[in-house]
Amino acid sequence: MSERKFEGIARAEIINLPIYSPGLGSEEVKRRYKLEEVIKLASNENPLGPSPLAVEAARKELSNANIYPDGYCGKLREKLSRRIGVSPDSLFFGNGADEIIDLIFLAFFNKEDNAVMGDPTFSSFYLSGMSVGAKIIYVPLEKYRHDIEGIVNAAKKGAKAIFVDSPHNPTGTIATREELEYALGNVPEDTLIVWDEAYGEYAEDGEFPQSISYLEDHPNLLILRTFSKIYGLAGLRIGYAIADSEIISLLERVRPPFNVNLVAQAAAAAALDDEEHLRASKEVNREGRNYLHGELEKMGFKVVPSQANFVLFRFDHLTSKLSDRLLSKGVIVRDGTSLGYPGYVRMTVGTPEQNKKVVSVLEKIIKE
Ligand SMILES: *Cc1c(COP(=O)(O)O)cnc(C)c1O
Repeated sequence: MSERKFEGIARAEIINLPIYSPGLGSEEVKRRYKLEEVIKLASNENPLGPSPLAVEAARKELSNANIYPDGYCGKLREKLSRRIGVSPDSLFFGNGADEIIDLIFLAFFNKEDNAVMGDPTFSSFYLSGMSVGAKIIYVPLEKYRHDIEGIVNAAKKGAKAIFVDSPHNPTGTIATREELEYALGNVPEDTLIVWDEAYGEYAEDGEFPQSISYLEDHPNLLILRTFSKIYGLAGLRIGYAIADSEIISLLERVRPPFNVNLVAQAAAAAALDDEEHLRASKEVNREGRNYLHGELEKMGFKVVPSQANFVLFRFDHLTSKLSDRLLSKGVIVRDGTSLGYPGYVRMTVGTPEQNKKVVSVLEKIIKE
């Protein structure tokens, strides 16, 4: 059989897509560098783990694993709708927010339709877009922040959707209330505004908008959220969208019938009840973020002020790649190169112990 036999068979749009690389896992790093202990601060996961209530609910639900899940996510839908004060038919659940991004492109985009987004931004936005042949219009960030006016101006020339992550990944900056209002008021009415708040629960800036309050007057607004970050359920894959019921109903047409598994549904519903876990997660993050920001600056790093559960920082006074040096000492971070910030590192805020360890490792590296 000749090599590359199937390249001519696959759709042209996907040939040049990169294969997603999540980086090394903890076990692999332990083996490679012969380390006893490894700290993984690469994927913005909750360092406190999932809520014990969620774990208990998941365990119970496992004995029903022979049954297909409720494709409508009925129980979770009811609970979440009451919790956030929207009608049940304004909610849509996905196998992670990532799947919802895919389904948005599948439902709304023809080949060559424009998708406007920041540069850099969350990779799923452009990877999902490219996979359906959408034309990606990139609007460079300004001082680590989304240029909302630039995004709106691009959308005015014609776009199916704009994509804004706030807090932004990988900088941690937010788009303000004023900026959301500007987008809502100036983007064409038939352009979807995908407003991704994966890290929204961590944002404490008074300018962070209450995005849900705009849904009623703006049927083109779609808010994305996830149970992967503050709720600590990344491994179970569940996220949701909040939008006008007509948009939700269009997404429902392209949704795989059983896209959210029953364990994830049960765990997410229980996690919503665990306000103590939520409070502690927020508190540990706030303190850790402040601590890391301060210590990193003391060491001479340039740190981007973050409203999320990670910090992006620059290390131009060091010669070789900082992420590799951290890795060899048992700290897994995300190198900025693949995130659009070469010369930077994105590091998740850990537990107080993890943060202290990381700071001491960095101090050692600087002295080497
Ligand atoms: C982590 C993340 C998500 C959520 O992804 P899931 O598929 O729900 O795990 C969405 N948007 C951004 C910007 C993220 O960083």
